[in-house]
Amino acid sequence: MEKNAVEVWENCLKVIKDNINYQSFKTWFLPINAVKLKDHVLTIQVPSQFFYEWLEEHYISLLKKTIRKELGAEGRLEYSIIVDNSDIEPGPITIKVPTGEKKATFNQPVSMPIDLNRGGTSKEIPNPFIIPGLKKIKINSQLIESYSFDNFIEGDCNRLARSAGFAVASNPGKTAFNPLFIYSSTGLGKTHLSHAIGLLVKNNFPEKTVLYVTTDQFTNQFIDSVRNNNQNDFIHFYQMIDVLILDDIHNLAGKEKTQDVFFHIFNHLHQKSNQIILTSDKPPVEMKGIEPRLLSRFKWGLSADLQIPDLETRIAILHKKLYNDGIQIPAEVIEYLAYNINTNIRELEGALISLLAQSSLNKKTITLDLAKQMIDKFVKNTSREISIDYIQKVVCEFFNIPVDTINSKTRKREIVQARQLSMYFSKKHTKSSLASIGLHCGNKDHATVLHACRTVNNLVETDKQFRQFVEELDKRIKI
Ligand code: ADP
Ligand code: MG
Repeated sequence: MEKNAVEVWENCLKVIKDNINYQSFKTWFLPINAVKLKDHVLTIQVPSQFFYEWLEEHYISLLKKTIRKELGAEGRLEYSIIVDNSDIEPGPITIKVPTGEKKATFNQPVSMPIDLNRGGTSKEIPNPFIIPGLKKIKINSQLIESYSFDNFIEGDCNRLARSAGFAVASNPGKTAFNPLFIYSSTGLGKTHLSHAIGLLVKNNFPEKTVLYVTTDQFTNQFIDSVRNNNQNDFIHFYQMIDVLILDDIHNLAGKEKTQDVFFHIFNHLHQKSNQIILTSDKPPVEMKGIEPRLLSRFKWGLSADLQIPDLETRIAILHKKLYNDGIQIPAEVIEYLAYNINTNIRELEGALISLLAQSSLNKKTITLDLAKQMIDKFVKNTSREISIDYIQKVVCEFFNIPVDTINSKTRKREIVQARQLSMYFSKKHTKSSLASIGLHCGNKDHATVLHACRTVNNLVETDKQFRQFVEELDKRIKI
């Protein structure tokens, strides 16, 4: 009997695998065991209640079809759900629990390695300038080993960017993807993917010089070179890099001199067919404060975005991280985290780390309850950061005007007012400078923003209806 169940299920898996993407297959089907086949009823064992519900919700028709195909018209499926019997009190659960099933030992306090270099920010770059006369020197690529392709989980959210990155790493400078421009909002893997490309290049072509820098590091080095009067060394250094990765290129906004020098470096590298990889929080068409001649070059190669990963990918990311750290925690906890933190991978990892920390420091076992308590706090504490874009969206929805009119030249009264309100709220709720608020609200200068804030303040004091508008808007922005 037992063997038959396994055979039948294996046949089903073959069909299922052909019908869904691999990540989903891996997440939802590989963990299943076939345990029994009797009277055309196949019993499969799933790791949790959540798992069972997910299968029923998303894959029921596929399952039905495959089971019928294998077992005929009267074929049926039954689930047996593994219950975490490490709980002291199992409670009145009435789901069939397979006998002799031992759950892997979870729930142990863990020790937790924290990598302080994560995110790759603000690490000092050693003096990068080459000694004149030396052709190739060894430089510190600034690549973080753990940000590898192996650790970068593939999903629908990143397929194009990932495979383009892979292609570039296999053939740097020789594909049509030059520059490779990767964009997404924060915490979705730009830095990780760009490191992965760099690491793979170094692996494939050890003789190539690869350099990862953040745009802020690049800018600071440039400013230093101006101060020390060795700009030429700076430029020469960058011109000999085979694969240059510049992270967060949107930070060049408004920095004309740095843009100018980067323009020359870009041209030189591109002409020599050296690879350039850029990351940004926006696609080139939506970037502000960058010279048109640079923007047009950003569009030469391929722009690929990273999107918010779906639930399966989020679960896979957490699994990978735990696996790498050699930690096991209950599947339901992982699912709970992945389900509840759904917009930002950095926050997802942050929640996991915080959970591990709590468990390790307070010697508490990791349970669903602990995760729930932690998430409640976590989600409240990291209340969404309010951005200028978000403020514009709320203001424009309020007045029922399209968002892009704010950035147009128009002087229509209601649009001028929406623009001024956007500036006023951006000053109030974001840490952006007046100059950068101006840049993002119709390409104005800082004096215009200051004027807008004064105007709104005056109107709030003198006009009751206007004050009500402002209060209502303030509420909506803070929700
Ligand atoms: P960004 O640069 O877009 O702000 P990061 O590259 O810093 O985002 O990613 C944030 C965190 O999420 C990092 O710890 C990174 O390892 C992790 N991460 C992002 N995407 C993935 C992925 N596809 N697989 C595994 N981990 C990921
Ligand atoms: Mg980043």
